[in-house]
Amino acid sequence: MNKRGLLYFTLSEIEPRVWFMLTGCNFRCRGCFRPARDGGGTLLTASETLERMERACQNYYGEVPVEAMITGGEPTTDKEYLLSLVKGLKAKGFEKIVLMTNGYELGIDEEYVPELEEAGLTEAHVDLKAYSEDVHRWYTGKSNKPVLSAIEKLSASGIELLVQTIYMPGIVDEGEVEQIATFLASLNPKIRYRINPFASVFAYEKVTRRPTLEEMERAYEIALKYLPNTIISRSCYREYPTPPPQKTWITVYPDLTVERRGMKDQAEERLSWLSRVRLREGVVEDWQKEEWDFTLRHSLVGISELSAKHYKAQEDAGSGRVKVKFPQALHGLTKTGWTELDCDGSTTIEGAMKSLVERYGEKFSETVLEVDGANGEIKIKRSFNVYLNGMNIKNLRGTKSEVHGNDEIIILSWVSGG
Ligand code: SF4
Repeated sequence: MNKRGLLYFTLSEIEPRVWFMLTGCNFRCRGCFRPARDGGGTLLTASETLERMERACQNYYGEVPVEAMITGGEPTTDKEYLLSLVKGLKAKGFEKIVLMTNGYELGIDEEYVPELEEAGLTEAHVDLKAYSEDVHRWYTGKSNKPVLSAIEKLSASGIELLVQTIYMPGIVDEGEVEQIATFLASLNPKIRYRINPFASVFAYEKVTRRPTLEEMERAYEIALKYLPNTIISRSCYREYPTPPPQKTWITVYPDLTVERRGMKDQAEERLSWLSRVRLREGVVEDWQKEEWDFTLRHSLVGISELSAKHYKAQEDAGSGRVKVKFPQALHGLTKTGWTELDCDGSTTIEGAMKSLVERYGEKFSETVLEVDGANGEIKIKRSFNVYLNGMNIKNLRGTKSEVHGNDEIIILSWVSGG
């Protein structure tokens, strides 16, 4: 049985979900920001990987989750390993199995996509680095024909598809985005398309600068003309929708040691990789200057949410249910990671919180809420943050923010335990 390098698993603190970080890649993107590209990690067969994943999840969650994301590096370079991994996840009861890929191998091997579908893959996120062949070759070292072919195959399959592009001013900008959007729309205008901003600070080669908010907005408007399911990225957040700086996640290494890490740790990992492989002077100073450009990223979340909400409303109009997700820290109280509330017409965050108190009792109120004695107004305790469709309610109308059927509320704890 073939072995692949596993760098670590990442476990979500929001709800049971596991990422597999596999090492090695068949591309050499100039702007690569992934240390896993260069191989390394612990060599394991697919069944050894699954066995360690199961132990890691049992130790942390007390159960095996139903959502897995397979990423890297490039996960598709060993077909036998990947098929065994996906089959194994399906056999263990995983319901959502997502592959994050550059698509190249899937386009070369005619049987790869159908075999992945049969194995149980439910979703693929394909990076389309550029539409123009010469730009793609210059940036990745490989032709984009197989990538385009993989996208066609996935679009025609039962695997849900998301295509992503990194906006790089002067290289992959409005013109490329328009060509990509036209190509995707010709396959299926409902394809989900995400545009991510280039983060020059972490790039292997600083091929360009980071885009401005205005450039991202223009690219978004252009893509939207062809693809109504366009969003601008939140992908630089480790997981939707938590903004930094309070975000952390659980890293489990192949020897099952555990570390809680955050954006700063990830930045350090990338910067130390860059210093090692590029001997790039000044990377740390760059990082200090740019600091992830939180303003740009927060603004992008706003744009993205408008779009996501628009389509959600279009697709699910009238289902009248509001999904509420709880942090690990509340699971002892709620006995569940999420629930749904009835919502005919509209309510507010305050109304939703009252419904949760009715459902989970006064203990929920004491833990999460503060009641202003003077006017009975409900506030969220400082140790919790509440997000409505990805936006912190502090940036909306607080507990007076309106909630409608099909909305999603996520409660996060700043002190959620592991
Ligand atoms: S960006 Fe992704 S596809 Fe490109 S070299 Fe890095 S890991 Fe490989």
